[in-house]
Amino acid sequence: MRTVLITGASRGIGAACARVFARDGYRVAIHYHHSKQKAESLCGELIAAGCDAMTVCADVSDGAAVREMVAAVEKRFGCIDVLVNNAGIAMQKLFTDTADDEWEKMISTNLGSVFYACKAVAPAMIRAHSGCIVNIASMWGEVGASCEVAYSAAKAGVIGLTKALAKELGPSGIRVNAVSPGVTMTDMMKGFSDEDVAALRDETPLCALGKPEDIARAVVFLASDNACYITGQILGVNGGMVI
Ligand code: NAP
Repeated sequence: MRTVLITGASRGIGAACARVFARDGYRVAIHYHHSKQKAESLCGELIAAGCDAMTVCADVSDGAAVREMVAAVEKRFGCIDVLVNNAGIAMQKLFTDTADDEWEKMISTNLGSVFYACKAVAPAMIRAHSGCIVNIASMWGEVGASCEVAYSAAKAGVIGLTKALAKELGPSGIRVNAVSPGVTMTDMMKGFSDEDVAALRDETPLCALGKPEDIARAVVFLASDNACYITGQILGVNGGMVI
């Protein structure tokens, strides 16, 4: 049985990933930060369905906390076969209004976290000569979004990290890919008005916004043996909004 650690699995895309990996027969480590109750309730749901699951808490913008998170999962489940770097935050703000500490928080939470978690799982994966990392980027990291400069920069960094790490870890039998979601209906979209959401839907060639499960299915595909010759790729799951 393979083990997956999913960061930010208490809600949204991460929780959908946890459910799809569990259905696929994985042991699931559900990471959360503030949403303890949601993470524990999801863990109970997966265990009731016959999955071996655990929860683990950490602030992913803190390197030491990420190392402790990985150690806790390795202690309970043995090696981590699949790491999904999903935890993230968004911010809509004019570039000229973005404070230094907001920039730093966006970069450390969305990009630093990926560096810390990949670095923490890599030694065991290298020893095992196998493993798989799937990072959650964003279409704004590919093309940039007005009023989301810090977010776009962090996600562009995730894309660069994914490609470079795939080259470095490929000879060690480890695949590194990213899923790059388009607009996906989660708490992250709470700040958008109904009109904004309708406009985004109208701009999408498939005339629908993403559901967390749409992203999760792509993540599980990239982690699976069906994707055994795929590495260093950024898989857009965006209804055709960015091609
Ligand atoms: P969400 O519903 O807001 O969930 C965010 C998750 O990240 C939560 O589980 C949260 O944990 C965790 N998190 C946030 N800050 C954290 C921190 N400092 N330390 C640890 N965990 C932290 O967001 P989502 O829409 O599912 O987004 C998931 C990923 O997809 C993000 O990387 C996001 O950038 C990306 N994405 C989303 C969209 C979209 O339209 N929704 C589009 C493109 C990309 P707690 O609640 O436990 O604190």
